[in-house]
Amino acid sequence: MRIPLDRQSTTPLYRQVEDYLRRGIRSGSLPSETRLPASRTLARDLGLNRLTVETAYAGLEAEGLVYSRQGSGTYVAALPPGLPQTAPAADLPWPRWHQPARPGAHRSNDPAPSDLLLAAGHPDPIDLSGGAGDIRHFPADEFRKVMQGVMRRDDLAALDYGDRRGYTPLRSAIAQVTASQGLALNPEGILVTSGSQQALSLVCQVLLSPGDTVLVEAPTYASALDLFELCGVNTVGIPTDEHGMQVETLEAKIRLHHPRLIYTIPNFSNPTGACLSGARRRQLIALAGQFDIPILEDDFVGDLRYEGRAQPALKALDPGGRVIYVSTFSKMLMPGLRVGFLTADGPVYERLAEAKRVTDLTTSGLVQRALEAYVTIGRYQAFLRRSCQRYRRRRDALVSAIHQHLPSEVCFGPPQGGLFVWLRLPEGVRGDDLLPEACQRGVAFAPGSRFFVDPADGESFIRLNFACQPPEHLQEGVRRLGEVMRNSIR
Ligand code: PMP
Repeated sequence: MRIPLDRQSTTPLYRQVEDYLRRGIRSGSLPSETRLPASRTLARDLGLNRLTVETAYAGLEAEGLVYSRQGSGTYVAALPPGLPQTAPAADLPWPRWHQPARPGAHRSNDPAPSDLLLAAGHPDPIDLSGGAGDIRHFPADEFRKVMQGVMRRDDLAALDYGDRRGYTPLRSAIAQVTASQGLALNPEGILVTSGSQQALSLVCQVLLSPGDTVLVEAPTYASALDLFELCGVNTVGIPTDEHGMQVETLEAKIRLHHPRLIYTIPNFSNPTGACLSGARRRQLIALAGQFDIPILEDDFVGDLRYEGRAQPALKALDPGGRVIYVSTFSKMLMPGLRVGFLTADGPVYERLAEAKRVTDLTTSGLVQRALEAYVTIGRYQAFLRRSCQRYRRRRDALVSAIHQHLPSEVCFGPPQGGLFVWLRLPEGVRGDDLLPEACQRGVAFAPGSRFFVDPADGESFIRLNFACQPPEHLQEGVRRLGEVMRNSIR
């Protein structure tokens, strides 16, 4: 064990050892039952007299922080109740730079609905607030076998740094997947990222500067708003309807705000589930060309379509270099893989690849190899088909539960795919007010305020995830929600 000691200090050495260990024990870095080094060993390692170490241990023992076991050594004791988990280094306030430099850095401070649900302590909680699919159906066994196969096949190569642009066979496999969805991509223009969140972040790093303006759908993905805020970028919301962004209103906003980027989720939007119509897609591409503004297309669940005809990706309509397309395996497969990708044509691709390199060098090569193997042997496609069938049934179950249990004033349009149903609440009911009571009754949802540039615009909406719970839980969750809503109307 290395303990930093200041031999010039007026604090005696035994106190320095004691203080260091005390901080470790209180902060949890030395958990209970950790065996401390024998005093003779520690004294030798630190160049101290053995008595110095024994004095430090005795001080900790007197406080009840360690205990000695006859013939076995000195161990960290369980923390006495009430002892603070972290000890301040000294009685000093935090340095001023810990505070946000810009006013208004507030977006991410609300507790997550799932945490509120957990804290409420309901014996049978039902969480409809999440942003992903159902963890219980992730193909863990299949993936484990593929992973072991990759380790046998590639051995050390799987554990090295890889190409900053991504594992070449995976980039080809991605191109095959997107080609089957009507988006023909050159693998050379694909950049593998650590989730699509990183792809969004790289685009911000490369294209935006603090003070720039980005146009977003109102509502849009909450963590994209958080990201834009982190980058010091202003966001302006464009109204949406059941056919996605109201592109007709875009030109006036462009002339007014001179945006540097348009961010859109054209398929099964998070949070509304709406898809951008074909006519609006073409109009959007034309405007991007006319005003020379890049489009960031976030296709996070494009493959989860349960019915209806898919519209072409904006990228497929791009005459060249106007659209940066982003997608992910998080929703179609498993979010913990942290594999997403972007594709861009022209010089900006190299700039994005360079930003990827300086951000995290490369996405895990082992996971990329396993994913490539999984996709190539057709497991991905088979899993996707099963997921679509399952999620379609769940969407139907949620829709019928809403009709059965929620007040008739609740408005919504069932989505043709994706993960979410977006509800407008009855007049005067606010999602944020409803949430604590709903959690007490054992159900959580995502309040609409989190998805708007101005949270007040989302007060009367909530988002429900139908993909992450089996039909009977959806039924029960919505029944509980109905009770809470009726109480708040009364
Ligand atoms: N875009 C949208 C619209 C999302 O909902 C999410 C995840 N919730 C992401 C991007 C990022 O997902 P990931 O980084 O896991 O690919």
